[in-house]
Amino acid sequence: MDCIFCKIVKGEIDSAKIWEDDDILVFLDINPVTKGHCLVVSKKHFENIFDIDEEILKKIIIVSKSVSLKIKNSLGADGIRFSQSNGKIAGQVIFHFHLHIIPRYQDDGLLMNNWGNESPPKANIEDLKSLAEKINSV
Ligand code: AMP
Ligand code: ZN
Repeated sequence: MDCIFCKIVKGEIDSAKIWEDDDILVFLDINPVTKGHCLVVSKKHFENIFDIDEEILKKIIIVSKSVSLKIKNSLGADGIRFSQSNGKIAGQVIFHFHLHIIPRYQDDGLLMNNWGNESPPKANIEDLKSLAEKINSV
């Protein structure tokens, strides 16, 4: 399989590693959105949230917490944003599960505090309840 992140895990492509254990690898993103932008990946190939093993997913979140603290304390990040895309339409480009840790700094200029360039309209609570029912019907 021609997967960039599998190659990084195997050491066939170089990366700047921050942390690793038997299941998880964390390395800096090659196109950093802000200083310290990194990716938390499973060492085993899973495509995304729809197929990832739940125990590995738990580990990814726990590792993400400790890496976030490291980044906050070492780089002085004022906040941390997580981003994680599943499927092409959601913006996933590399189909190997990864969670972005994006450090945020005062005045970093990143337009990431809202949903793109639109303010979503307020929904009707009854519509939301019937939608919740539909989601829970499967
Ligand atoms: P996504 O759009 O969520 O699939 O994100 C894929 C991310 O992988 C992008 O932010 C890329 O900059 C990053 N990326 C691609 N190739 C490499 C690489 N060789 N080393 C580190 N990060 C990479
Ligand atoms: Zn892979």
